[in-house]
Amino acid sequence: MDERKLTDTECTLYGTKSCALLNMQDCDKCPLKGRVADPAIHDDLRLFCTLQPEGTVAQLFESKTCTLCKNEPKGTPTSFAVFDMAHTEPKNLAKRKWLSRQETGFMVPLQFACCSKCRRRILLQSYLPLITPIVLSLIALPFVMTERFAQTMRQAAGWLPFAVVVAAIVGGYGVGKLLSHLYKRKCEADMYIDVRTHPFVSAMTEKGWRPLFNDRSAHLAFTKQRINRGLGTAPRAVYDLPDYETPAAEDKITD
Ligand SMILES: [Zn+2]
Repeated sequence: MDERKLTDTECTLYGTKSCALLNMQDCDKCPLKGRVADPAIHDDLRLFCTLQPEGTVAQLFESKTCTLCKNEPKGTPTSFAVFDMAHTEPKNLAKRKWLSRQETGFMVPLQFACCSKCRRRILLQSYLPLITPIVLSLIALPFVMTERFAQTMRQAAGWLPFAVVVAAIVGGYGVGKLLSHLYKRKCEADMYIDVRTHPFVSAMTEKGWRPLFNDRSAHLAFTKQRINRGLGTAPRAVYDLPDYETPAAEDKITD
């Protein structure tokens, strides 16, 4: 359903490809509202287009099949796995913070159309180091609390029951990490469980993009409805529009 409210016909961006690329949906919520748009915005957004790998980021959320499945038949998308990437360009963006939450340059959410099986696997793999200590503690606690075992342990050393619980938590975390690693290896055969190994992320990296969070594990957020506002969320058709100053560009957009 089209809920775009592009009402500010006075805006210098109204009806341009830049407006469509920014994809703010509603003039009332656009950070440029009431301001005379900096002409450099057109150059910035032209640059943004050239920094797109083939197919643009839109191909990930517009895909009719799961983008994380490796083998056919690929699953039907039921949600989106969001992975943020940032670019050092444009250098002068610090002055135009409305384009990016980062001070360095462009930021874009990669929205991988994801089937329920891939989602379940990613969540299980990331939660295993947390689940295992809880399970092991729940197994250890009845032993520690059983009077007969507790007494035997206390006779050996007063701190032993406590040490058993701590060992279950710490050991459980280690076991969980190992299980998580093994599970990831198993899943890698038929899905991109670590999105950083996805060919599209590699293509982005070649264009100078980097993960927003440079951690050892990929930060993914899942959402049922795709993010549909802001830079990098415009449909593929927008990138194909002729260059700027195209009258009523938004009329040609199909979502
Ligand atoms: Zn899948």
